[in-house]
Amino acid sequence: MLRYILFDLDDTLYPTSAGLMDEISQRMNEFMITRLDVPAHDVARQRKDYWERYGTTLRGLYIERHIDPQAFLNFVHDVAITKYLGADARLDQMLAQIAQTKSVFTNAPGDYARRVLDALGVAHHFEKIFDINFIEYQSKPNAFAYDKVLSALPVRANECVMIDDTPRNLAPAQKLGMKTILLNRENHRTLPSGVDAIAQTIYDVAQVVQDLD
Ligand SMILES: [Mg+2]
Repeated sequence: MLRYILFDLDDTLYPTSAGLMDEISQRMNEFMITRLDVPAHDVARQRKDYWERYGTTLRGLYIERHIDPQAFLNFVHDVAITKYLGADARLDQMLAQIAQTKSVFTNAPGDYARRVLDALGVAHHFEKIFDINFIEYQSKPNAFAYDKVLSALPVRANECVMIDDTPRNLAPAQKLGMKTILLNRENHRTLPSGVDAIAQTIYDVAQVVQDLD
C-alpha cells in the first residue's frame, strides 16, 4: 500500500516550456563566467562534464572549484518566478485527488522551492520540502540524498513513490524499494531502467499512482 509521495520540483510540477529553468541555467553560466573566470566558450562542456561525473553543476563546482555552495545557490535562484509561473488550478485539483501524504524532494534550496509552490498555488498540498541543504549538498542522484530523505519519512521504502522528470534520479529510489514514476519530458516509449511507470503529464500522476497502488 502506498502512503507517501515524493515530488521533484523543477520541470516536474511545472512544464519545461515555462522557461524558468532556462533562466536558472543561464545564471549558472553567468556565475561560472563572472565569479570563476571560466571562458564562456568552455562553460557548456564543463557543465556537461560535471553533470555526468557529479550529478549537478553545483556538486561539480563544489568538489572541483571549492565554491561556497550557498553563494552559488543564492545567485542562480535569484529569479522573478512569477514572470514564468502562475496559479495552476488543474494541478491543484490533481493534487487534491491524491490521498497520500505529499512532500517535495529537490536539488534546489527550500526558499526557492517555496516560492515556486506559492506561485503555482499548491504549497498547501505538501507536508515538507526536502531541499539541497537537507541533503547536505549531495544532490540527486547521489545515494546519500535518498537514504537521508527516506530515514526522515514515517513510512517504509515500499510504501513510498517518487516522481521525477529525470530517469537517473529515479534509479536510486527504486533500488531502495520505492516505486518510481517518470514524468515523460523526453517522450520515452519504453520504461527506462529505474522506472516503474510513466506519467505523460503531471496531471496524469493521480491516476498513475492509483494504478501502482
Ligand atoms: Mg526536475
